[in-house]
Amino acid sequence: MIERIPKMEVEVNTQPNYQVKIENHLFQTIGKEIHHYWTPRKVMVVTDYTVQSLYYDELQEQLQKEGFEVFLFSFPEGERNKSLEIAEQLYEGLAEQGFNRGDGIIALGGGVVGDLTGFVAATYMRGIPFLQIPTTLLAQVDSSIGGKTAVNLPFGKNLVGAFYQPDVVFIDPIMLQTLEWPYLAEGLAEVIKMAMIGDKELWEHLQRLPLEKEAFFAQLPYIITRACQQKADIVTEDPYDYGLRRKLNFGHTIAHALEAIDDYKGLRHGAAVAIGMVAILQLAYKEHWIENETMIEELIQLLEKFHLPTEYDEVGMDEIFEYIVRDKKGMQDEITLVLVNEIGQSFFKTISYEELWEILE
Ligand code: NAD
Repeated sequence: MIERIPKMEVEVNTQPNYQVKIENHLFQTIGKEIHHYWTPRKVMVVTDYTVQSLYYDELQEQLQKEGFEVFLFSFPEGERNKSLEIAEQLYEGLAEQGFNRGDGIIALGGGVVGDLTGFVAATYMRGIPFLQIPTTLLAQVDSSIGGKTAVNLPFGKNLVGAFYQPDVVFIDPIMLQTLEWPYLAEGLAEVIKMAMIGDKELWEHLQRLPLEKEAFFAQLPYIITRACQQKADIVTEDPYDYGLRRKLNFGHTIAHALEAIDDYKGLRHGAAVAIGMVAILQLAYKEHWIENETMIEELIQLLEKFHLPTEYDEVGMDEIFEYIVRDKKGMQDEITLVLVNEIGQSFFKTISYEELWEILE
């Protein structure tokens, strides 16, 4: 049996503020939890086919018991469906059922569902209440918090979006038991990032985290809570991504380049972030921007523990940095890198593209 540990809560003090509730088995009482925040009303549950098959019936039954009128909008899973086309179908579904600003939308799924739902909620009738039930680790520790919502365009990811906060986020780590390991590891890469940029205690906890299933899931609420706290603190300070929030990009400059060079074929985002964190620190060490080589070794060990890659043989680092320089040059003169010198202590390093180019040569 998995231990029932006390409910943990994180307050996100953006405008408006909201709570993130984290508890193993929270989904078993989700109807009551939602009723605590919303009076009975029409609700549209937005999800993808996989998550629908696993969790929708239970959610529908509980919401109906609490007096909600429940509608379903489900679409095929995958990043390519975080699109304007699917958003339009959802707008139409809402309009057909006569949804207005007194009703609500529930995002039940991973980051794709959460980003698309949030974007539609932000824009349908200029804003309708929505709440999040994230079901991947990445969504639980990252995308469900902070109010970034978006859909993709054929020209690039997240090009159309809005900042729009949910009314509340409900996290049940037990829902991750149905998630395949590569997706779980993907979320762990983001948790490791959070620890590196600002939480040494979380880092030490990750080092001790047992991989045996029962023990792993017993510890997960604590790990998720700390990562959520970190994200909440950062987005509270910088809700619109003008400064501090850029720390969340640690490892991501290289990750985005890798994903683009790989043409989004096989390399998953979390794997790219893992490789990106190691690569940027190795470069920083080589250039004497940081001094702590042991920390890089420890990072590699921790990533390997969770079967995350630490290098990518398909693409050379030269190619990656050349891509970064070519991609951004002309738009900006300089690039701001996020670096870490001690676990939990991150800083920004701004260098010109000329300088980066010279380093590459
Ligand atoms: P995802 O939403 O595509 O989910 C991954 C897969 O897991 C899907 O096939 C889904 O059906 C399945 N799944 C989800 N929950 C499950 C469960 N409990 N059991 C079994 N299968 C389950 O991917 P993701 O990694 O959660 O999210 C990626 C998206 O998040 C990207 O679009 C990215 O841009 C976005 N993102 C947004 C933010 C933000 O701040 N808004 C931050 C980071 C990432």
